[in-house]
Parts: sequence; C-alpha cells; structure tokens
Amino acid sequence: MTNSIEITKAKTSKIQDVDFENLSFGKIFTDHMFTCDFKNGEWQKPEITPYAPLTLDPSARVFHYGQAVFEGMKAYKDDAGKIWLFRPEDNLARINKSAERLAMPAFPHDLFMEGLKKLINIDEDWVKPGFGNSLYIRPFVIATEPAIAASPALEYKFLIICSPAQSYYSGDVRVLVAEQFSRSANGGVGFAKAAGNYAAQFYPTSLANQEGFQQIIWTDADTHEYLEEAGTMNVFFRINDTLITAPTSERILDGITRKSIIQIAKDADINVEIRPIKVSEIVEASKNGSLKEIFGSGTAAVVSPISAFSHKGELFEVPKQDDKYSDKFKNLLNGIQYNTLEDPYGWRQ
Ligand code: PMP
Repeated sequence: MTNSIEITKAKTSKIQDVDFENLSFGKIFTDHMFTCDFKNGEWQKPEITPYAPLTLDPSARVFHYGQAVFEGMKAYKDDAGKIWLFRPEDNLARINKSAERLAMPAFPHDLFMEGLKKLINIDEDWVKPGFGNSLYIRPFVIATEPAIAASPALEYKFLIICSPAQSYYSGDVRVLVAEQFSRSANGGVGFAKAAGNYAAQFYPTSLANQEGFQQIIWTDADTHEYLEEAGTMNVFFRINDTLITAPTSERILDGITRKSIIQIAKDADINVEIRPIKVSEIVEASKNGSLKEIFGSGTAAVVSPISAFSHKGELFEVPKQDDKYSDKFKNLLNGIQYNTLEDPYGWRQ
C-alpha cells in the first residue's frame, strides 16, 4: 500500500462517560474516525484522527445535490475478546456500486479493509461482548467540492465513524403497506444506499408513525400491488413452510442479511421462493391462516418480526408462532457473528 494511514490518537477517551446499558441508536460515537479525501482524480493520504466536526464550504455539493452514499455494518466481540466483522467486503462492494450510480469514485478495497480494521482496533474497548451488543459502523462518502454547478463533484471525502449499539428494534413492529407514496422508481437509485432515498422516506414514515405503524412496506411505484422492502430492511413472508422474498432489482437494496438468510434457509432445506409477491397474496394468506410470519432483515436487528400489517385501511394481525423461522435465522446469524457457532460460509472475518 502506497498510502499508509496516518494515525493521530485522541488525548483522552470519552468512554467512561458512556452508559452502555442505555444506548440510543446512533447518538454516541467512538473516540476516532477514518477519513480520506479524493482530489486531483485520486484518493489522498488516509487518516485516523480524533472524532470531531468537519469544516466544509457552504457550497460543498453534498449540501445542494445530495451527492452522498453510505453503508451500515457491525463489529461483534466474542467471549474471548476478539472482534469480528460480518461480510465486510460486501459492504465495500455495495458502497462502490452506490457511488457509481451517484457518479462518485470507487474507494479502493485494501484501503477500506485496512482503515476499517485499524479504526476498530484503536476503538476496541467500545465493542462490548454479548448478544445484542455491537459496534455499528457507518462508512460514507460526501461530495465536498465547493461549487454549486449541478454536476458531479471533483472532490469527495470518505469517512468511517462508529457508534456503540444494542438491539435496534424492540417490541411489536407494525407496518403500513404503501398505497400512495413510493420509495423508488424503475431506472432510479433504489438499489443504492444513497442518502436521498432515506430523506424521501421520512415524511411518509412519519405519517405512518402517527397512525401507530413503525415502518412502511414499500410497494412498486407503478401499481402498488407488489411488496418490495421496508425502510431499512428487506422483507420475508412465510406462507405455510415456504419462505418468500422479493427479488432484488434496481428498486430494492441487495441486503447482506437478506442474502445470508436465503443461503441459511436453503441449507436448512427450507423451501425458498425469490419472486414478486402481490399484496393480495399476503392478504389472502392472512385470511386463510396460511400466513405464519413476516419479518424484516437488516444489519441493525438481523431480523425484526412484524406483528401486523395494514392495507387499504384493514389491519391484519400475524398470528403468534411457536417455531419461528425468524428466531432460527437470528440465532444462526448471531452465532456466526459472535463466534459461538461454526461459520461454514466464511462470512465472519
Ligand atoms: N433495505 C434498505 C433500504 C436498507 O437501508 C437496508 C439496510 N442497509 C436493508 C434493506 C438491509 O440491508 P443489510 O442487510 O445489508 O443491512
């Protein structure tokens, strides 16, 4: 590696002020961050420095045109104190795919892996052992060039910041099936983790919150007849013993948890169908008793069981299930992530 990482350590740590038993998601950050600037057509010297505010020109393009992409991943600590990542290269591949769609430069593989591992190493005390505890890692890229012409920037900043986390969702998750608003369009940026995708969901989601729903399950923008994904989760349906999830597409994020669950389910001889799912099919399955489970999948919570969904003003409760697929997948994935189970896939690194 030509660009070795310059490391400046924080003089004091903030860790003693943190109540690790009562963390709100994403509000507290570790002592250090990783940054690397893109200028003159190439990535410059990477740095790990004390976590601190950035100084950006008000004309930086990210503020005007939303040229920004991000990732969400986690580090886990096993009982022996060793820290593990879960499929980190898939996050890199995805941020680079997102970046390409937003006309941003790709970040180099070796620099990402080295920066990530060094950063986590330096802030290792922030990763607490035990199921549910993790370090949430947020890599992101923003257009920093001071210029407000509506065209791709020539300068960017790549950063990684980290936040200690406990389980993300708690309690019942009730969802509203989208009938009016859409998350993404054909030919659009739905498959990318582009910042604007999330900003655009806040308003419809806040309306759903007011009606008592935590999340929206987005449907296709053309007909609103097909179920796609939730705000920050892919969605699975279990009808009898068959597990069904929508295919990824230009509108749906290729979730790393989703593809891990598909693999685990297939290897457990569960019948998996990856195909478009009509809202009417799930409504029908709910009415005739064959709908056994709905759950979201994502890095934040691994799986989030969904207890009810609302469609066209009608509420459908998902019956309680003793032998839940979602529990099985969560236990298997947590076992791989926290190094309490064998990892036949090589996902743990
Ligand atoms: N869909 C969307 C829109 C998301 O933001 C996320 C979170 N990254 C997911 C699905 C789940 O993806 P993953 O399993 O890789 O976290």
